Amino acid sequence: MNWEEFENTARQCKACGLCEGRLTVVIGRGSRNTGRILFVGEGPGENEDKQGVPFVGQAGRLLDLALEALEFSRDDYYIANIVKCRPPQNRNPSLEECEACLPLLRQRYRLLKPKIVVALGAVAANNLIDKNKTITSMRGQWFDKGGILFTSTYHPAALTRDSSKKPDFYYDLKQVKAYADKYINK
Ligand code: SF4
Repeated sequence: MNWEEFENTARQCKACGLCEGRLTVVIGRGSRNTGRILFVGEGPGENEDKQGVPFVGQAGRLLDLALEALEFSRDDYYIANIVKCRPPQNRNPSLEECEACLPLLRQRYRLLKPKIVVALGAVAANNLIDKNKTITSMRGQWFDKGGILFTSTYHPAALTRDSSKKPDFYYDLKQVKAYADKYINK
């Protein structure tokens, strides 16, 4: 499946109930270069649903500013979510909704072949790394899964509610940059 086929499949997806309330299927944004970094959040919010682009609200701006401050190259990352359709009232996606959407994320792995996957927040970390641990206990740790390095940090939206998490968030992204410099930009 190429990118066009993948996007067409995603836009027509009705594999879970979230398709009923969506305005758009929010697929992703960023570099399609292979062998780079894939950031994965939980799901689209109101702005993302309207614009069809992930991380365009306040949390997205915070993430972009952090990545810019840490000198990530825009060629080196792609940003997506566990679910591609907005959960009503911005609730967390259910386990069933996440599981329904994971095949599309796996298809994205095949297209991007990321070397590093960064889960942003508990929903992404529980689905991608360990469903039994909290984001606080997992963040900043690294896991090799089939040759792809997985790590996690807070969802940037959490920082807008609790600014005391910002230093840890920046520290975790700094670690990602160090790994990227070692494994991607060598
Ligand atoms: S959230 Fe994912 S699985 Fe559910 S309808 Fe949207 S694209 Fe399909």
